[in-house]
Amino acid sequence: MIKVENLVKKYGNNYAVKDISFTVGDREIVGFLGPNGAGKSTTMNILTGYLSSTDGYVEIDGHDILEDSDAAKRSVGYLPEIPPLYMDMTVKEYLNFVYDLKRCKLNREKHIMEIINVVKIEDVYNRLISNLSRGYRQRVGIAQALVGNPKVIILDEPTIGLDPKQIVEVRNLIRTLGRDHSVILSTHILSEVQAVCDRLVIINKGKIVADKPTDEITASFTGSSRLEAKICGNSKEILSAIRGMQGVAKAEALAGHEIDSTTFIIESSPGVDIRKPLFAMLASRNWPLIGLTSLGMNLEDVFISLTNDPTKSPTKAISRK
Ligand code: ADP
Repeated sequence: MIKVENLVKKYGNNYAVKDISFTVGDREIVGFLGPNGAGKSTTMNILTGYLSSTDGYVEIDGHDILEDSDAAKRSVGYLPEIPPLYMDMTVKEYLNFVYDLKRCKLNREKHIMEIINVVKIEDVYNRLISNLSRGYRQRVGIAQALVGNPKVIILDEPTIGLDPKQIVEVRNLIRTLGRDHSVILSTHILSEVQAVCDRLVIINKGKIVADKPTDEITASFTGSSRLEAKICGNSKEILSAIRGMQGVAKAEALAGHEIDSTTFIIESSPGVDIRKPLFAMLASRNWPLIGLTSLGMNLEDVFISLTNDPTKSPTKAISRK
């Protein structure tokens, strides 16, 4: 449905997007994820036709965005981070206005009724937008993206500023949209993509650092198991003994230890359970083990490890499961 090949966007001598390629399939919900300044908005603005690229090829529903830009634009419904709403219009007036603006050819009444049904705004249809809650305004924003029934829906940070109940409702709505549309969801909220997206494209400094099904991205980082062990004794000697154990891929002592104990992060090779040999080794050396916790990586850890400066402390990427 969407094909992006070797897309480049430069501002002066700086790359906002540096040679990225990805595809989005029919009825696929793809999370577009990355820290601030990664190039997400730039890419989305190119896909929606608001911005021209420096180089590369973009195709939407078979339409080249340069050669066939009107048809490509018609294939995309866009909800920017700040929805383009007119506060002094009612929902009804606004959706009719968008219908005219997009020169929609579908049956007006029927089409608008279908949309308000999908996004569940029937009960505020005749209300002024200025009087609506943020959650409802966001729904109206999604409704305007659906006018013209585009095959692709692009949502930029759609749950920002919503309360937890509204967030759940909007996420459910996005899942519903995924049944009939291809959806790109740009966000920095990891629980959101985990809850909603089939696949993740992670972008950092203008480049794609991961492009995989959501489950695979987290699973690829949980092949080796990690432990947090609190041990009493000389930390240097303990660390060297742990590093010497068979099946230990990596071990580190955390800074800022307590008076007579140190916390170690121990990563074992894939498929190896290091706990029993670790206990036996420590007992044989008379180093009391006073705490042992299994650590796993969640998406947040994966994200940090994929987008972080490798010179920064790896222990930041650790969390309890
Ligand atoms: P994101 O949406 O992931 O936060 P952006 O796409 O907004 O990232 O920005 C990517 C990079 O391009 C950033 O370094 C940003 O400073 C730069 N950039 C974005 N827009 C402009 C612009 N109009 N002029 C110059 N640099 C820009």
